[in-house]
Amino acid sequence: MNEKGLPKTLVLQQLMSRLREDFTYDSGQILGSMCTKPLELATQIYTTCLEKNLGDPGLFPATVKLEKEAIQLLGSLLSNPNACGHFVSGGTEANITALWAARNLSKEKRNEVIVPASAHYSFDKAANLLGLELIRVKPNERFQVDTAAVKREITSNTLAIVGIAGTTDLGIVDPIPELSEIAVAHELFLHVDAAFGGFVLPFFKELGYANLDFDFKLSGVCSITVDPHKMGLAPIPAGGILFRNEEIMKSVSVEVPYLAGGNTVQSTIIGTRSGASAVAVWALLTHLGREGYRAVVKRCMDLTWKLAEAIENMEEVSLVTKPVMNIVGIKSNGIDVHLLAQKLRERGRAVSVFPNHIRVAVMPHVRLVHVQSFLKDLKNIVKEIT
Ligand code: PLP
Repeated sequence: MNEKGLPKTLVLQQLMSRLREDFTYDSGQILGSMCTKPLELATQIYTTCLEKNLGDPGLFPATVKLEKEAIQLLGSLLSNPNACGHFVSGGTEANITALWAARNLSKEKRNEVIVPASAHYSFDKAANLLGLELIRVKPNERFQVDTAAVKREITSNTLAIVGIAGTTDLGIVDPIPELSEIAVAHELFLHVDAAFGGFVLPFFKELGYANLDFDFKLSGVCSITVDPHKMGLAPIPAGGILFRNEEIMKSVSVEVPYLAGGNTVQSTIIGTRSGASAVAVWALLTHLGREGYRAVVKRCMDLTWKLAEAIENMEEVSLVTKPVMNIVGIKSNGIDVHLLAQKLRERGRAVSVFPNHIRVAVMPHVRLVHVQSFLKDLKNIVKEIT
């Protein structure tokens, strides 16, 4: 560090120039991310609440109340207004917290968690941190977890099952009602990772799409990850962990005796925690309401069908499967997908790459012109390399 700092204007100039290297949502370059440009209202609120610390609730009682209300609003969206939980740094922290609770509630010292092969890598982190073993179950022909195989994997050492409502690679929804029945029958903890789908699936029925049950309506569901910083239009960081009831949350609670305002209890991994995130989510849920989010989902899904149709009409590439949500998996028999992604990146388009496909997430920032120019590039690249 230099002895003398630079003037503010110079720092800003340098910073703005250096940040130009980053991809931007508005440009349509970001086509593979599950995050999106936050709604302006949320950004405004976030920046005015930067000093709020939910890790010190005695100092910010109003922020604590707003977080509680926002969690209740989310709970009611997920069929349980009595759900409790917190806004955390993201889906990773939410999934770790869920398995932390599951492990603490396990009566004997069980250590196996059955997860779909499609589970996000955050479960590997959770298992590593918590001393658990992941038992991975292969998908069926529709890319959902094979529930018969889940049943076969249950042993006296199983403590939890995980289902995904919006897989990372393809946006697939596991048969959560079946997983719920299995969990109830075997008295196992069921965690649903709806980091992506939690802000998409609740609107499907009203939009006339396939209604896929995945939430607290199902009696076996003990906890749900739902991320406002994905389809919820919130600024990063905003993950969400919701528990069916206080009893479950208490299993990860730690007393903090020394903070202002007296004894307090924390049920999150981190201590100091962004109050700005929670307040911004409260404002988003209150401002957009079901109607606002439904419109966002409809726009994304309309665009998803258009992209999917165009891919189906191409010869060299095809859909991995018909999209369930606003995530499109594109594969090719003759072209290496890594080369495809690299060529797209050379043209300024960032997509995600999985072993056998590229992923386009049709997020709220993606517009028709972006999809059209992506398709144009894709066609040119395919011609060039075949
Ligand atoms: N769960 C799913 C299904 C995801 O797709 C992701 C990220 O893409 C996560 C969890 C982790 O979320 P985060 O990156 O916010 O930690």
